[in-house]
Amino acid sequence: MWERAQPAKGSKAPGRIPETKESGGRTRPQQGVRIRAILSPSAFRASTVELRITEIFHSLQGESRSVGVPTVFVRLTGCPQRCVWCDTEYAFQGGEKRSLDAILEQVDGFSARYVTVTGGEPLAQPNCLPLLTELCDRGYQVSLETGGAMDIADVDERVSVVMDLKAPGSGEQHNNRLENIPHLRPHHQVKFVLADRRDYDWARFMLDQHNLTGRVSEVLFSPVHGQLPPGELADWILADRLPVRFQLQLHKLLWNDARGR
Ligand code: SF4
Repeated sequence: MWERAQPAKGSKAPGRIPETKESGGRTRPQQGVRIRAILSPSAFRASTVELRITEIFHSLQGESRSVGVPTVFVRLTGCPQRCVWCDTEYAFQGGEKRSLDAILEQVDGFSARYVTVTGGEPLAQPNCLPLLTELCDRGYQVSLETGGAMDIADVDERVSVVMDLKAPGSGEQHNNRLENIPHLRPHHQVKFVLADRRDYDWARFMLDQHNLTGRVSEVLFSPVHGQLPPGELADWILADRLPVRFQLQLHKLLWNDARGR
């Protein structure tokens, strides 16, 4: 079996393969030389792993603690949940199968520092995990937006996980994977999207019950767009002295939730 030589120790360049000159000036690898490793493990993975992608675009981060920061969004296709107020139903189906190589090349083309992997539910595709790791290896500041129903235990430690806990008004409360809570780290964030006072009271209960503000750097409270008046939610948070971050989705204010913005 022929394989390409590995880089010399301490070098990024491929190693030099000993060659024999043939008549006519052509060369071939010396007999008996076993040439090692066609591609590095990560390059091999990047060329064989595929993901189904709805869109990749460059915009301003619309929420979380990085709000307003230029960011590349990689939106994976598919979601096992059906939140009644979901604003990305177009990502439930369709999309295009892309190799990890092609995805990384497109992300690199934006020359951004921040990358957010989102969906749909990105963790519904197992190959989301190598995508996250490859992005971290390339030096990006990576965040993952996940709906809270999938296991986050194997997500690369360097990724800032933004995990939803679905309130009753979403219709998906029963799918919250509470086993994820012990896996939350200080650089992670927990997000509640709230449709009414009942949702707010439930979120307040969850804060206490699971000591969420002691586990993660930010707990985010957002009103469901067009349903809960933002001022009402802000007043409740202030009245209760809750140590959470109120947020509105910037992309909705700027571009009225236009796709790809
Ligand atoms: S988890 Fe996210 S993508 Fe899935 S239905 Fe809920 S809001 Fe939509």
